[in-house]
Amino acid sequence: MMKVFTKKIELTNYLFEIKNKSLGLVPTMGNLHLGHLSLLNQSVLENDVSVITIFVNPTQFGPNEDFNKYPRTLDQDLNLIESIALKLNDSKEIIVFGPESIAEIYPDGFSTSISVGEIKTILCGKFRPTHFDGVTTVVYKLFQIINPKKAYFGQKDYQQCVVIKKMVKDLEIKIHIKVMPIIRNHDGLALSSRNQYLSDKEKEEGLKLYKSINKIKELILENKNYQSFLSECLTDTRFDYLEVLNADDLTAPSKETKILVIVGAFRIGSTRLLDNMLIDRNIENNHA
Ligand code: AMP
Repeated sequence: MMKVFTKKIELTNYLFEIKNKSLGLVPTMGNLHLGHLSLLNQSVLENDVSVITIFVNPTQFGPNEDFNKYPRTLDQDLNLIESIALKLNDSKEIIVFGPESIAEIYPDGFSTSISVGEIKTILCGKFRPTHFDGVTTVVYKLFQIINPKKAYFGQKDYQQCVVIKKMVKDLEIKIHIKVMPIIRNHDGLALSSRNQYLSDKEKEEGLKLYKSINKIKELILENKNYQSFLSECLTDTRFDYLEVLNADDLTAPSKETKILVIVGAFRIGSTRLLDNMLIDRNIENNHA
């Protein structure tokens, strides 16, 4: 079964009626692709009720970013969600919350911000200084409105996952954060709603990010020095950053660090592509 709500009050009234059911939350900005649907499928597996939100959140866009032109494809999104909902048995339900206006989330006079510390200022934060405050504020609000037991995020936006986990820990929010693997196209390019800004040729150029990360991973797994390859990559000014960090807190890794993340951002015109790979040094073979 699938239900669609556009008003917060109607959603919360309904959630009150089913308050004994286990609830999973999948926050999105819509223009759904297989990456988003993988989060929804996981939530459906693990919960009675899955709430997928579709809201292009203005506060996470900078003044010169693509808020106005961000792809909004609600009808297509609802069809995709319905194709999952139709296969569910009676005990499972999907709720779509697509606020009808920005004021549903940010009513007149809204002036509070949730802001994690330093971690929001590194990597993407250097290039998008207000971005993570927008993300944490909207995610916190969705947590408050929906009150899920679990919430699902994509590893594709790795720093976002770390920032949200930090918020959850610092504010003692009783929600289990689940991070789902990156879904890629057949070439390896991580799926993203922003890929549609790119021509086929530009998508191919964008693969440089994936290939560079993959190469660094190979070098690390072979215990070879990756630094000179990484430095060489960074001579391409399309990289906003490319770093190997401690996967838990995005600090510089030491020899003892067990789980590493290779994170990168690569610009094609005004489109920024993100990608990353994890290396678990507890496990000998890391096939991503
Ligand atoms: P967005 O609509 O871009 O805000 O993304 C909503 C959620 O989907 C976020 O948790 C993203 O990390 C996740 N997501 C986006 N692209 C992918 C992907 N290729 N694979 C897995 N999850 C993704």
